Amino acid sequence: MDMIFRPIFEDKSAEEPIMIAGPCSAETEAQVMRTAHELSGQKVDLYRAGIWKPRTRPNSFEGVGKEGLGWLRRVKEETGLRVTTEVAKTQHVYEALKYGIDVLWIGARTTVNPFSVQEVADALQGVDIPVMVKNPINPDLKLWIGAIERLYKAGITRIAAIHRGFSYHGATKYRNIPRWQIAIDLKRQFPELPIICDNSHICGRRDILQMVAQKAMDLNFDGVMTEVHPNPDEAWSDAKQQITPAQYKAMMEEIVLRQPTTDDMEFLENLEHLRHEIDELDEEILNLVSGRMKLAERIGEYKKRNNISILQTSRWNEILERAVTKGKLKGLSEEFITVMLKAIHQESINHQERVMNQQDLTTD
Ligand code: PEP
Ligand code: MN
Repeated sequence: MDMIFRPIFEDKSAEEPIMIAGPCSAETEAQVMRTAHELSGQKVDLYRAGIWKPRTRPNSFEGVGKEGLGWLRRVKEETGLRVTTEVAKTQHVYEALKYGIDVLWIGARTTVNPFSVQEVADALQGVDIPVMVKNPINPDLKLWIGAIERLYKAGITRIAAIHRGFSYHGATKYRNIPRWQIAIDLKRQFPELPIICDNSHICGRRDILQMVAQKAMDLNFDGVMTEVHPNPDEAWSDAKQQITPAQYKAMMEEIVLRQPTTDDMEFLENLEHLRHEIDELDEEILNLVSGRMKLAERIGEYKKRNNISILQTSRWNEILERAVTKGKLKGLSEEFITVMLKAIHQESINHQERVMNQQDLTTD
């Protein structure tokens, strides 16, 4: 679907990043006001606070509800900051609009469900308000785009995507692994759609927030969303990942904003040269992989003749271990080597399978 997006804020140049900060949840009026006052005057374009909280399990704090909307209205009046909150159903949309919330967002647990996204889109029919769409919790780019399309069809054209990482079963340093490639693919398909990095939900911890925010800026993202709380350890939700307004200030001062491009001829020529070299290496990689497949096919023919199964676990473990050790010496991470080799191995198996299941017409 062709979509033409308008900027989220008409009074802000599209070149400038959109910085969003505020608590995970609105807890009390004092906490909301104090955070807002400590953030006002800082690099913040939009104040966030969850009013209705979708929690993974019941009996967690599920948000203060509409009472908190009045607090956000007070934030607007006293600080001039624009405000945003998460909506997941019709009643949330109506209440938020009634209280003059400037921007809405759809949470990761809502984006996964087309019925809920459609309900929100229907409630927004004919309303001109910016809406930010978080990625679904599972790494499904189509589902993310689908949610954006549903809103667009309802007449919403000020849309941003929020990349908050993806759930992952297994040990990682992130709460939700970023899988940057998915966000980059979204950007490639919709170059005009702003993408904001929610470093808080990607990290789930404080010590790597800045590194992730910087990475997003280096990848030419259009903004950052960070959870900020006056007393993070005491927060009623997401305590481990929230930072104080002072820590937010320090983070913003450290972040280096990159220019998407430049007119500097020498720089551009060097870049062009390096890109050529990369293209050549990419081609070389393809040739090597294709050569590997041909060998796998020959082995397949041999196994077929001797009636041996395709998968030999000990051989596979040996290949993987050797590659991880060698790769580390060359500065390649274990995670990368594993993912790359698994993909190559699967492709080899497919090739072998084809060879082994082929009717051998010549021997009949
Ligand atoms: C949040 O922003 O506090 C939140 C609930 O995030 P997500 O939908 O990304 O889990
Ligand atoms: Mn949160």
